[in-house]
Amino acid sequence: MAGDIFPAREAIALMDEVDLSPPIEVPLIPASAFPENISREEREFLRAEIARLKKERNALILAHNYMPPDVQDVADAIGDSLYLAQQGTASDADVLCEAAVLFMNQILAIMARPHQKVLAPSLEALCSLAAHADVNKIRAWKREHSDGVVISYVNTYVDVKAESDYCCASANSAKVIKYVIEHEPGRPILFLPDVYLGFYAAKLLEKMGEPLDRLFLMMGACHVHDRIKPHHVEEQRRLHPGAAAVIHPECGCTSACMRQIASGMVPEEMMQFRSTQGMIKFVRETPEQTVIVATEIGNIHPMSKAAPEKKLIPANPEAVCAFMKQNTLRGVYESLRDLKYEITVDRDLAERARKPIERMLSIV
Ligand code: SF4
Repeated sequence: MAGDIFPAREAIALMDEVDLSPPIEVPLIPASAFPENISREEREFLRAEIARLKKERNALILAHNYMPPDVQDVADAIGDSLYLAQQGTASDADVLCEAAVLFMNQILAIMARPHQKVLAPSLEALCSLAAHADVNKIRAWKREHSDGVVISYVNTYVDVKAESDYCCASANSAKVIKYVIEHEPGRPILFLPDVYLGFYAAKLLEKMGEPLDRLFLMMGACHVHDRIKPHHVEEQRRLHPGAAAVIHPECGCTSACMRQIASGMVPEEMMQFRSTQGMIKFVRETPEQTVIVATEIGNIHPMSKAAPEKKLIPANPEAVCAFMKQNTLRGVYESLRDLKYEITVDRDLAERARKPIERMLSIV
């Protein structure tokens, strides 16, 4: 079942059979997350107030790529989880207001300097993938594999990071996995919680001539990316012949698309796997004018800014993260106005989670 840990071969065989639906309730998207529901007067008021409060509070506003466009437009830094962690930890601002989801806010709270406050505009911004990572199952695996190494994906909460040796984001997952393979020879590796990204890790292991027996995977997934299935990509490729496709490796279509490339059905240059940030770079650099984009649709906003001349086609237009969309322009304003919601973490857990996070920030 979801959240269980299996040897990689078994996990890959089960990947398409296990119910990976979200283990937590997915909230409704507030109407104000859609820019068309905010009047011009209100938007202007909120933008002006945010700019005023930002100065007054000496605040830095960070926004994830999946944020509603009007939230991205008031941010000082926009990017994926790794980029936001880098920007937040490098900043000396008194207030770090991060429009993202809780696991990212926790990273800033763990790494923050004593004078800094970390604020989240919404406490409803959770993550279905992070919710799959059951810390008790990780502890049980560690008891069975006393020499094991745990690599947790950035989409995990502080208690899971505290049990991990390494942490990685989509932008540096390949580098971290390679690092562990080279620097921790022979040791069993548990990669969690995303089984699709785990499949990607397995491919890497095979490429490096390492036995797959070393690798264990957790059966977890993001319900938004899991919803992007092979038939979505195939249908868009049929409708847009000649279009390139760029895919986030958390997607439910990852293994099928990788197999299509391996079998020669699709030329590698026409179908690439990239991190959230890497997808933007791909769209900017590819010579193709039409690109099929397999990820959360919010990422299309920064992509269109980076390459306004390109035609971007969402593989599945319903791939919308309702957790991310709990952050609204009004929410950012109220967060700065009332200094809410302050994110704090248990000191002991934070101490233990710091090392894998530092490793994630340094292996880039
Ligand atoms: S898109 Fe998926 S992985 Fe990202 S925050 Fe939403 S539920 Fe979590």
